[in-house]
Amino acid sequence: MVQLEDLNCDLLIVGAGPAGLMAATWAARCGLHARIIDKRGSKVFHGQADGLQCRSLEIFDSFGFADRVWKEANHMLEICLWNPDESGRIRRTDRIPDTIPGISRFQQVVLHQGRIERFFLDSLSKYSKIEVERGVLPAELDIDHSKSEDYDAYPITVKLRHLGDDAATPFQHSTNVPDGLFRSSLAKDDTDDLIRKSKGKEGTTETVRAKYMIGCDGAHSWTRRQLGFHMEGEQTDFIWGVLDIVPITNFPDIRMRCAIHSAESGSVMVIPRENKLVRLYIQLTEVRSAGQQVDRSAITPEIILKAAQKIMSPYKLSYDYCDWWTAYQIGQRVGNKFSCDDRVFLVGDAVHTHSPKAGQGMNVSMQDAYNLGWKIGLVVNGIAKRSILKTYQSERRRVAQDLIAFDHRFSRLFSGRPAKDAADEAGISMSEFKDAFEKGNMFASGLAVDYGASVLVAKAEDSADQRDGTDVGPQTNGHTNGIGKVVGKQELASNIKMGMRFPSFQVLNQADARPWQFAKFLKSDGRFRVILFAGNLKNTQQFERVQAFGEQLAKPDSFIHRHTPPTKRIDSVIEIFVIHSAPRREVEFLDLHEIFHPFDEKKGWDYNKVFVDDLSYHEGHGEAYKNYGVDKERGCVVIARPDQYVGWIGELEDVRDMDRYFSEILLPQA
Ligand code: FAD
Repeated sequence: MVQLEDLNCDLLIVGAGPAGLMAATWAARCGLHARIIDKRGSKVFHGQADGLQCRSLEIFDSFGFADRVWKEANHMLEICLWNPDESGRIRRTDRIPDTIPGISRFQQVVLHQGRIERFFLDSLSKYSKIEVERGVLPAELDIDHSKSEDYDAYPITVKLRHLGDDAATPFQHSTNVPDGLFRSSLAKDDTDDLIRKSKGKEGTTETVRAKYMIGCDGAHSWTRRQLGFHMEGEQTDFIWGVLDIVPITNFPDIRMRCAIHSAESGSVMVIPRENKLVRLYIQLTEVRSAGQQVDRSAITPEIILKAAQKIMSPYKLSYDYCDWWTAYQIGQRVGNKFSCDDRVFLVGDAVHTHSPKAGQGMNVSMQDAYNLGWKIGLVVNGIAKRSILKTYQSERRRVAQDLIAFDHRFSRLFSGRPAKDAADEAGISMSEFKDAFEKGNMFASGLAVDYGASVLVAKAEDSADQRDGTDVGPQTNGHTNGIGKVVGKQELASNIKMGMRFPSFQVLNQADARPWQFAKFLKSDGRFRVILFAGNLKNTQQFERVQAFGEQLAKPDSFIHRHTPPTKRIDSVIEIFVIHSAPRREVEFLDLHEIFHPFDEKKGWDYNKVFVDDLSYHEGHGEAYKNYGVDKERGCVVIARPDQYVGWIGELEDVRDMDRYFSEILLPQA
């Protein structure tokens, strides 16, 4: 066996599913020396997850590839509910919008996981040298706890094994149609077998020392096992089959997302996909586990189709082409801990599992990594304090718990038999189901996420950190919340909520009059943003307030200068944007303080920093101030984190509070 030399890296990512690729994408944008390994020999080509929430698309947009997804994906606009009538025949009983109108510039779409992984891989090769190393898995993990607070240390040592092609290729049950059973909850994990089999064979091992490590290794997570963490929750008896087919049917809503409840034969969820594919999620009443291990060989595409035909009767359903199929048992569980020493983290399915029907797993998994990636990036780069890493668990464990509660309710309603009448207490009320669907839509969009008070979110409410038992660091005095941190003024921007993602509305570029969705400028590149709602610049007093704010920020000892490395551009750590509300034609871009449009000797003024809420020539008025809930005369200031979540809101005079906000989280630069 060949032993490669020991190598150091900033970040080791185990698992190249959606969560691992998201983590690697942040590493690429933050310029980290990162490695990403996966025990499988190839990426996903068929099946698996396919639903993308609005928030995931917003995140993809901030990385620059949402347009590719938007173009290829199938757009889901309406949900149809089908229920049995008095005679037991299924009928369409309701239509509701799939995405709540107006909540995002994107709507929910479906595209198979393999394509999404492709876009991540392309982005990685565009911005970095990071490549997924396939057929590689960790065999031993050692953490030197005594070094965890040392910024320069590499406290994690991992022994990696490289597998041969055979071992890295998953077993398929049927020869003609790819299946996902090897990744399903019904399959036994093969990690230990792979480690054992690769021992003593020809191949290589290597020892990697890493500053940070993220376990993105799915529901059976090896990393979780090494840390001794466990999952809390329960396994249900419901077995579900999934078929990706090009259907031949006279069912009228086959190109709509449908929830079909039959009177006695179970339920089907219909998901119309790209390329005429349709995904059917079908409850398999005949193979209910009743607490026993399920016989997987009893589940075939034919059995799943038969179950669907029964539920959708009297409509006919068959297929000539099946792209992929799988079966799974629903487990609803959350990890007890998400991190060890804030050095080794768990994300995605490694810390939460639930049913796939609500289309959440891939989205929430990617969003875990999206929450964590920039924090590790800024800490490794010496920009941020290690204390921000604590917010990963406090912010994301709460989201995972909310997700399980949502899935619990949704699965029960979906898997249950419809009530025959009001007296039928064992049955599921269809109006309750519709209500859950409508309410669930906000949650399912990913936009309901609301992070609790912490060093990164200056709001007054009880901290998620406290509820989670996580220490949030020393208390300070002054204008503070219950845990001693700076408190922002939520009342200044009623629709920009601290703890939630910064919403997007149309504004015009002051310099060239072009309309933009403002979020286009909140790119995922690791920078904090100060967004100055400058109000009515035609009012002399307000103009002076704005210039005075600029003077404060431009001072050599301002928080901007203190936290920006002297060799870097002034906007490289904290970027400032201005959105004013005066008529565009009556304001001169260069009249504003230079800090609002920094000058570069080689490139001139930066014209993409000043925007106006005004009527465009061709795309109407964005009414940004009204939509953001900000006073058009006086404005306010907002701090957005690198992941676009709102950290603080205040007046133009609250520069000291801004200073304290940043001092808590960023390191002074020499
Ligand atoms: P995974 O996707 O499981 O990726 C883990 C990766 O780690 C894999 O590549 C694996 O090979 C690798 N790995 C595992 N162990 C090791 C090891 N020891 N060493 C190295 N590598 C390792 N979610 C949605 O959001 N929307 C949907 O519509 C949706 N539909 C679904 C439909 C089905 C049928 C299923 C089964 C799931 C669906 N999900 C959906 C859920 C979604 O697939 C998962 O939640 C998501 O893939 C989790 O991403 P992850 O990166 O955390 O884990």
